[in-house]
Amino acid sequence: MAGEPQADCLFCKIVAGEVPATVVRETETTVAFRDINPQAPTHVLIVPRRHYRDAGSLAAAEPAVAADLLTTAAAVAAEEKIGETGYRVVFNTGSGAGQTVFHTHAHLLGGRGLNWPPG
Ligand code: IMP
Repeated sequence: MAGEPQADCLFCKIVAGEVPATVVRETETTVAFRDINPQAPTHVLIVPRRHYRDAGSLAAAEPAVAADLLTTAAAVAAEEKIGETGYRVVFNTGSGAGQTVFHTHAHLLGGRGLNWPPG
């Protein structure tokens, strides 16, 4: 059921502390941890504690928590001191866009120049 932990979900397991991760920030509704395969000097994933398959599903069900993801991303960006040079927050949605983990997550990328358009 949407919102409930999924037994086969990697990010539900990270939220539950069952799979180790380098957590950089936790709030009541979100957990932020370093990506295991970083694509930039700062590459942090921000996930809701509750399970939704993608950003749109989360926003439809719990819009305040969708906003919390962005607030947490901004707080981590400030801590990592990437705010001045700029950073990117990305929600890959669907396998065609590169989504591989179907638990909503924002990628926070920064610490290097970022090209546009992305690949
Ligand atoms: P997606 O491709 O947008 O779904 O992003 C999934 C991200 O999760 C990728 O950037 C992976 O490198 C990352 N990832 C996969 N497994 C782990 C893990 O165990 N810890 C942290 N990041 C992970």
